[in-house]
Amino acid sequence: MTTPALPARILLGPGPSPVDARVLRAMSRPVIGHLDPLFLDIMDEVQELLRYVFQTSNRLTIPISGTGSAGMEAALVNLLEPGDTAVIGIHGVFGERMADMAERLGARVVSVRAEWGRPLDLEAIEDALRRERPRLLALVHAETSTGVHQDLKNLGRLAHRYDALLVVDAVTSLGGMPVRVDEYGIDVCYSGTQKCLSCPPGLAPITFSERAVERLGTRRRKIQSWYLDMSLIEKYWGAERSYHHTAPISMIYALREALRLVREEGLEARWRRHELNHRAFVAGIEAMGLEMFVAREHRLWSLNTVCIPEGVDDQRLRKRLLTHYNIEIGGGLGPLKGRIWRVGLMGAGSTRENVMLILEALRESLHAEGIHCPSGREAAERVYQA
Ligand SMILES: *Cc1c(COP(=O)(O)O)cnc(C)c1O
Repeated sequence: MTTPALPARILLGPGPSPVDARVLRAMSRPVIGHLDPLFLDIMDEVQELLRYVFQTSNRLTIPISGTGSAGMEAALVNLLEPGDTAVIGIHGVFGERMADMAERLGARVVSVRAEWGRPLDLEAIEDALRRERPRLLALVHAETSTGVHQDLKNLGRLAHRYDALLVVDAVTSLGGMPVRVDEYGIDVCYSGTQKCLSCPPGLAPITFSERAVERLGTRRRKIQSWYLDMSLIEKYWGAERSYHHTAPISMIYALREALRLVREEGLEARWRRHELNHRAFVAGIEAMGLEMFVAREHRLWSLNTVCIPEGVDDQRLRKRLLTHYNIEIGGGLGPLKGRIWRVGLMGAGSTRENVMLILEALRESLHAEGIHCPSGREAAERVYQA
């Protein structure tokens, strides 16, 4: 049986994002053993580069074998024991997922909620911390289901004041927006490879602070997951180099190359690029008479949510983008299904060329739906000129 040739899609959805040819080439290198001295050097380099992108000096900084959700599960399963209290911020799908996982682990989940499309309220978080004295506070930095950016400044200090650890989901921000683990006082931060790092899906970078590592040592019982037990995984990634599970060799090659690309560009320059392309995109959307879903001050640079105008068939328009323009964008999840589009400008996908392309493709596709709007390209252009 033959499968049709796969087109190189222009990936402007919520992930995966476009992968650089250098990363794809790295994946096709010969597979060597996971304890080969040459591979151990590669592991060291990956850890060093991950410390750079996380802006941390945490010793325990590694990629988990699995996607972003495995990073989420690793964070929670290592820190929570049955009966522990966890305060979890929920303002979208991924906050819900964290709460679901914590509950499955037997934790008592206290949720602090915000309306979808709004960030969490700091006072509500502090009230919950004061009242519940939880083991941890967990929340999503970049809520990919809504496009909301949660400000992280002061959260570490706040959590530590009540002796709670701070767990942050940076899946859609790491490599695209500032995530300064040490400066913000984050205890466990995890991400995924296929969003702003522009690597294929398959690994979940994660980092544990010394405070979080200490907690691992004071657990009353074994971590429920053997596969995600950081104290075992650490023995492979740390000095001992003892076998735990076979590292996904080709994925580690890919991650190393993707992280090298980040370092070559420079993290600050990469953040600025994401911000600029986001601003140009928004200027274009607004010039077209369309509306962003999230208020200006709470928008992500990596994932833009646009309200779908009345009378437009969401599925049909997205199918048109795919078949006519080879472009993928995302639809809304849960209560936002049919109400918003999710346009990712992540990693290698965050370019001026893509901004111009999606604005024009959207305008033409809306036209096909009977909605006539002016071009957004001049407005976007002005952002680049300024
Ligand atoms: C994509 C995403 C995840 C889950 O990652 P997977 O790679 O799909 O498992 C978790 N949190 C956020 C905020 C995400 O955007």
